[in-house]
Amino acid sequence: MQEKKNLIVLEVMCFSILLKKRITMKEKRISLVLLVIILISMFSQVVFGYQLISHKLSGGIRNRYYAFDSTVTGYWSTPFYNAVNRWYNTNTYHAFAQTTNINNAQMIFYTYSSSTDGKNGYTAFFSSSNVQINPYATDWSYCQVYLNKYHLASTTTDFDSGVACHELGHVCGLDDNNTMPATIMCQAGSGRTVTSPQSDDCNGINYIYPNGY
Ligand SMILES: [Zn+2]
Repeated sequence: MQEKKNLIVLEVMCFSILLKKRITMKEKRISLVLLVIILISMFSQVVFGYQLISHKLSGGIRNRYYAFDSTVTGYWSTPFYNAVNRWYNTNTYHAFAQTTNINNAQMIFYTYSSSTDGKNGYTAFFSSSNVQINPYATDWSYCQVYLNKYHLASTTTDFDSGVACHELGHVCGLDDNNTMPATIMCQAGSGRTVTSPQSDDCNGINYIYPNGY
């Protein structure tokens, strides 16, 4: 609000200067500078710290459940547990508890191994009738979240946990945001510098689920 008030003050100053009968060179220069400041202020407000899929997890992110598929063995549960905790510890309503009943889970964790798909992990979206859906077209009831053991076997636990965090962002409706490397929704291939959700990511979550729903 304060920024908008300042803009109005600047505009009034500009126009009052331009409306004077005699405009000195100094006044012209001042009004030009003020106009540039106004234009920069207007365009700088267009940048957002998150991108949205524009659909969401039906029922929200509060008091929900995750489960492990049998492909998650040994070490591989760790990045998933870390990702759940890192999101839980943000200033959002993100709260998923573990269940052994896969039918009650809104996030189901898997691993696979592919040397050719070029992915560290991915998320698939499903309807309540267990049909895979296009998340850009409709809301979803649950997701399958996959980590690619082929690539992640040679990276650190912290990196792997960051990949899982990124995928959990997709589960909630955040899209990739490769223009901002210091957000979890930047893809690792585009130079992501963080391994946990940042304030821009959380702003996106809170925009989608203002009360957790
Ligand atoms: Zn992604």
